[in-house]
Amino acid sequence: MLQDTTILIGPYEVPLVFVDYCDVKGYFQRNEGMKIVVLREPSDPMSQRDTVLHELMHLVYFCYGIEESDNEERTVTTLAHGLTEVFARNPDIARYLAGVRQRAKD
Ligand SMILES: [Zn+2]
Repeated sequence: MLQDTTILIGPYEVPLVFVDYCDVKGYFQRNEGMKIVVLREPSDPMSQRDTVLHELMHLVYFCYGIEESDNEERTVTTLAHGLTEVFARNPDIARYLAGVRQRAKD
């Protein structure tokens, strides 16, 4: 189970916060301090990981300046670049999304 953390992307440090109650499964807040908020789903970790990945793609979309008018190839290429950066700079996120269990801390 991933705990609250900070996502490094470009020049930004973006909090990723898990909450017990939320009207939606998650959201990416762009204004008034960027952050990602995700509903904690202890009974459905796959759904929670799906939500985290969804919100990470919103983060990349925003931080990498993807526009609605961009064509599919540019959008997908830019998302790939952004996610590659996120996974490289935030290896705990990559392990979490892959469903790899965290080692118990001694
Ligand atoms: Zn969305």
